[in-house]
Amino acid sequence: MDVFCTEIAEWGTIETGGVLVGYIENDIIYIAKASSPGPNAIHDIASFQADANYVDMFIDMESANSAGRYQYIGEWHTHPQIEPTPSDTDLISLKEIADTSTDFALVFIIGAIDFKKEFLNTQSVCVIKFLNDPLFYQLEVEI
Ligand SMILES: [Zn+2]
Repeated sequence: MDVFCTEIAEWGTIETGGVLVGYIENDIIYIAKASSPGPNAIHDIASFQADANYVDMFIDMESANSAGRYQYIGEWHTHPQIEPTPSDTDLISLKEIADTSTDFALVFIIGAIDFKKEFLNTQSVCVIKFLNDPLFYQLEVEI
C-alpha cells in the first residue's frame, strides 16, 4: 500500500507500477506486497513497463523471505484517471500473459488522480483472465 502512495507521489499522472506477490487461500487471492517499478522501468503517459530484472529479483526475494509462501500474483500500474478502467492494451497484454501462464493472469490498476489510500477499493480495478477462458473478470477489491 505504501508503495502505491510513494510511487504516485513520485510519478503523478505518468504511469508507474510493478508486480504483486501474495498467496491464494480458499479461492481468495491475497496480495501481500507490491514492488516498485525498478530503475530501468519505462514510464509514459499511457503506458508502463516494469524493469524485468528488478521485478524478477523482487519476486525471488519475497518468495525466499516467506519460505515460498509468497508467489507472483500479477502486475499493477497506475492510470491518469480517478476511477480507472483497463485499456485495450491492458486487456491484450493480460490475455498474452494468461496464454503463457499455468492458471491465470491478473492486473491491478490504480487511479492516480486525487488518489487517497482509504479510497483504494473505489479508485482501482482488478481484472483477471484465466487460461483457456475467453472472458475477463473483474474482482472485488477489499483492503
Ligand atoms: Zn493500463
